[in-house]
Amino acid sequence: MPSEKQDTFDEIIRPRLRWNPKGSIAQMLMDHVFQGIVPPYYQEVRLEKYRRIQFGFVDDVNLNAFATLPDVIAVNSGALAILIAMYQCILASPKILPWIGDPEKEVTPSPISWAGFVAPAIMPNDPIRRAYALFLVVMAFDFMVRHELAHLRNGHVDLLNAEAGLSMLLEISDDTSIISALDFQTMEMDADCYAAREGFKWFTSRQIELHASSKMIVAGGANRETMYLWVFAIHAFFLAFYEAASAVSEIGARRHPPSNMRQVIVNSTLLQILNHPLKNILLEVAGPAVGDSSRAFSMIHGRSVDASYAVTAISDGYQEHSQQMLTNWSDLRPRLLPFARGGPLTEASGINEQKSAG
Ligand SMILES: [Zn+2]
Repeated sequence: MPSEKQDTFDEIIRPRLRWNPKGSIAQMLMDHVFQGIVPPYYQEVRLEKYRRIQFGFVDDVNLNAFATLPDVIAVNSGALAILIAMYQCILASPKILPWIGDPEKEVTPSPISWAGFVAPAIMPNDPIRRAYALFLVVMAFDFMVRHELAHLRNGHVDLLNAEAGLSMLLEISDDTSIISALDFQTMEMDADCYAAREGFKWFTSRQIELHASSKMIVAGGANRETMYLWVFAIHAFFLAFYEAASAVSEIGARRHPPSNMRQVIVNSTLLQILNHPLKNILLEVAGPAVGDSSRAFSMIHGRSVDASYAVTAISDGYQEHSQQMLTNWSDLRPRLLPFARGGPLTEASGINEQKSAG
């Protein structure tokens, strides 16, 4: 008997899934999934677990994404609209990332409210800044899709299926009754580690052509600019789930670790995989990129980011909670291993080693 939740997928989500979305940006992102995200996974997937990944957009205005069996990943079209609106608005502000293109062509846009986020078509005037806005969209979208891929690759969805009869992991959901919140958070940490490691590797290991009207710009590669922009884009993406810093007493009941904690997890993962000189460059750019994207967020919304947001992420209470997730990882990992499709699950344990070493 399919569960009630399976019915929800078949009846409500599946009919609204678009495998061939309209619009050049959606099409470009679709190409990125099949040319940039999925091929490295196919190269390392265990043969007996090999299944083609299907990807689509769901006609839904809410910020959400999901992974479901058998190996479907989908992103709501609303999530895409929010990403596009956010990075275009950021680059349309002359004071943000002023070294890109010609900021003097920009006029500071009026602050936008959260509710009106999708509606206004605010665009940078300068074609180079427009091209970079799209580059940041691709970085955030890449992170989002690789995060969903990790839920499949690392056996998270299969575990939900085996232990709770649920074949779908909906990214944003109030339902915490299925498995423990700590298990959920630990899987989210694992998915962020994979998305950070693979996404960062992808953008820093190749040159990417950006089209700015008739001009062609080369971005990407293992350099300061790409590393800064990647951290900037991912932190702005986390801020799209913005909330004031969660009180320590409230973290335990959540599905995801708080976004400031997620940024710490992402940075730690990168420091773990990088060697000199890239590691040193990351140490130099990560702080300014996080600070600058927080300021960008404040500017486009006309409200300030909770001042305790960054400090809370490294507070004693948060560090204690991180330790709980890492301890839980040693319990969760053996439960996931039979389902894992990709190589050894070392992501979260990698952070563990790094933390205990530091
Ligand atoms: Zn997730």
